[in-house]
Amino acid sequence: MNREEEAYPMLEVEEAVERFLDHFRPLEAETVSILEALDRVLAEDVVAEMDIPPLANTAMDGYAVRCDDTGGARPDAPRRLRVAADLAAGYTLDEAITPGTAVRIMTGAPVPPGTEAVIPFEEVEVEGDHILVFKRYPHHKNIRAAGEDVRAGEVVLAKGKLLRPQEIGMLAALGRSEVRVHRRPRVAILSTGDEVIDAADSWQPGKIRDANGYSNAAQVLKHGGLPIRLGIARDTVNDLTARIRAGLEQGADLFLTSGGVSVGDFDVVKTVLAAEGEMTFWRVRMKPGKPLAFGLIQGTPLLGLPGNPVSAMVSFEMFARPAILTMLGKTKLSRPIVDAVLVDEIKRKDDRRHYVRVTLETQGGQTLARLTGDQGSGILLSMVKADGLAIIPEDLDHLPAGSVVQVMLLD
Ligand code: AMP
Ligand code: MG
Repeated sequence: MNREEEAYPMLEVEEAVERFLDHFRPLEAETVSILEALDRVLAEDVVAEMDIPPLANTAMDGYAVRCDDTGGARPDAPRRLRVAADLAAGYTLDEAITPGTAVRIMTGAPVPPGTEAVIPFEEVEVEGDHILVFKRYPHHKNIRAAGEDVRAGEVVLAKGKLLRPQEIGMLAALGRSEVRVHRRPRVAILSTGDEVIDAADSWQPGKIRDANGYSNAAQVLKHGGLPIRLGIARDTVNDLTARIRAGLEQGADLFLTSGGVSVGDFDVVKTVLAAEGEMTFWRVRMKPGKPLAFGLIQGTPLLGLPGNPVSAMVSFEMFARPAILTMLGKTKLSRPIVDAVLVDEIKRKDDRRHYVRVTLETQGGQTLARLTGDQGSGILLSMVKADGLAIIPEDLDHLPAGSVVQVMLLD
């Protein structure tokens, strides 16, 4: 063991993730308009105030009738009914249907009192202001009962429910224009490095563009958080300290930095983080993303992601993503995983868990996983090409082509 290995514990991926997630709970509720609530989690039980549909209505364009008036009707001996009224959707008729009459009625219109069935247009013959009915109709035929969808008083959507488009539609149907959901987490994002410049800056020799500040912000947005972009800190104690303090003042629920945590290189970050809060450095048995800083600064969890663009994204995936979902009140934290057949062989020397970038393709009922090419943690194109991350277990150092691996889907 070298000095670094003695100083900083090596954690299994699960243990590190668990220790980290222990610091997160669903955030408090806020009231938002129902479209703003899409993909968020209900923080209240939603109870129906009235039946849906509120009134019995017709499922077809047709004629509202009393069943007795269709008794004995046959193709060769039709019954003749007088059309007493015409009713469009959106209106009601208070007078009951009298014997021997029918009411012409359009889909969705509440049926008049006394209606026992609705005969579709195409099943009658019209003779002036009369119709001919050719068969007997049973009770309730083509009538939607009041409350057949939802009953007044029912808990239609329970606290904890993830709101998809259908739940948003249901809220609207229930007359709810606003709803209580867990608020979105605010995630501060700070890049570090004297060499790092913004996408909009003009390039100078020695400089590289800040990929992480944007990829991480996009990941935050994608999973329902609100990114607070803090720009790029120089590798000095003063600049780093000032930017971290400024970020905290903006009220972050999670603080992400990238860079400055690799071996022998993290002195500034380490110094600042230790001075400003309680900081631990971990080595996590994963690749990419071994060095990881974690701690609390003024009570805010801070995750120091590695600087290499692939490491920053994959570490975000494993740690920040489930934290954001937890704060949103979500309980399904893991990505879907599929079994796939490796097209390329994989050899490696260390005992870390590898997250290998692969493309997926279905062929002959099988899912094939192909490496995206160079797997270096600085090769951002490997993420650009990837459909998923193949999970190579810690204890396998050789997977021949044809091996079955688990692949975590990225979208
Ligand atoms: P570090 O952990 O700071 O030593 O960074 C590791 C590698 O990632 C170095 O080659 C850095 O130049 C690079 N790097 C650090 N931060 C970023 C960033 N925000 N965007 C792109 N590359 C970065
Ligand atoms: Mg650096």
